[in-house]
Amino acid sequence: MNQHTRVTPVPFIDIGAQRRRLGPAIDEAVGRVLTHCQFIGGPEVAQLEAALAAYSGAKHVISCASGTDALLMVLMAKGVGAGDAVFCPSFTFCATGESVALTGASPVFVDVDEATYNMDVASLKSAIATAKKLGLKPKAIIPVDLFGQPADHDAIAAVAAEEGLFVLDDAAQAFGAKYKGKRLGTSALATATSFFPAKPLGCYGDGGAIFTDSDELAETLRSIRVHGQGSDKYDNVRLGLTGRLDTIQAAVLLEKLKIFDDEIAARNKVAERYARGLSNVVTVPRLAPGNTSVWAQYTIRLPKGTDRDGFAAALKAQGVPTAIYYGKSMHQQTAYKQYPVADGGLPACESLSQDVISLPMHPYLTEADQERIIAAVRGALAT
Ligand SMILES: *Cc1c(COP(=O)(O)O)cnc(C)c1O
Repeated sequence: MNQHTRVTPVPFIDIGAQRRRLGPAIDEAVGRVLTHCQFIGGPEVAQLEAALAAYSGAKHVISCASGTDALLMVLMAKGVGAGDAVFCPSFTFCATGESVALTGASPVFVDVDEATYNMDVASLKSAIATAKKLGLKPKAIIPVDLFGQPADHDAIAAVAAEEGLFVLDDAAQAFGAKYKGKRLGTSALATATSFFPAKPLGCYGDGGAIFTDSDELAETLRSIRVHGQGSDKYDNVRLGLTGRLDTIQAAVLLEKLKIFDDEIAARNKVAERYARGLSNVVTVPRLAPGNTSVWAQYTIRLPKGTDRDGFAAALKAQGVPTAIYYGKSMHQQTAYKQYPVADGGLPACESLSQDVISLPMHPYLTEADQERIIAAVRGALAT
């Protein structure tokens, strides 16, 4: 092997490989939209919503402009605002808590479970007590299905029922994953997902969707999506957004949905190979019983004290890119420092933020590339 072949980088996510696989199907789907010219609200949007409803088992699917809008629209529909507390994990992408802060409500940050990286229910209970002490009104819980694995939805639903809160599931990274045999989309009052290109089911721009069985919520969300429209879009009965999904993105997603289950199976194979090759040198992700994952990220935890930057540099020199999700938890970010955290603090979030690193993960990762990545990880830790 010459020097050049050895350092050709492995892609972190290979959207190009999927595009080649889908071939003319995507071009034709986009071409149909270019022909009918209904760029907003074209027939593909309703077709996609019906296909996603059938796939997830949810009664209603409201497609929208992004995963962040999906979260925000549900909070707006439920009237969340100033003085309310919404509980979310701190070890997540910022959009989870950002959607809350945008309504004027206060995110209250909750710790995560060290094994699954998802919301810790004991910390959730203490966060509810913290919020009450601060004079905030507990309103909602936003569990995140981090890196593709469902949160502990039954335990969270039990706390929500006891406290009279609603649950909005942030499944931006986990659409397609199963919780106790059922795909995400019906485990909460509403489930939000994102079709950002790097998500497991991604479009060719920004996009998102909301899943709910509630007729009333679905109707309000459809109004919010178009500036709070009433009987028509020039009748404004509430505040809303320009929250629609473009027809072209719906057309792309309809084609990608056809191969989605096959891609999830391929992601699982990649995850299994990583676990076999790495579980004796790093902490590999663990699925809770009853969960499947769509492996939005394959995030490992380095042994305490490992120089993470040095580790990443060693892998990079071998042509293996890595990413750090998330080097700071939300409560450690400048924009969110003023919001409360659960009594007892967030030790797991802080520790994970120091130790985690994500490896290349996509359905088209070859066994040969993966062997190279595994060897690079093992080599970097051995020195
Ligand atoms: C990506 C993501 C979002 C936001 O989705 P966008 O489509 O980028 O707005 C929200 N929450 C989580 C956990 C995410 O990973």
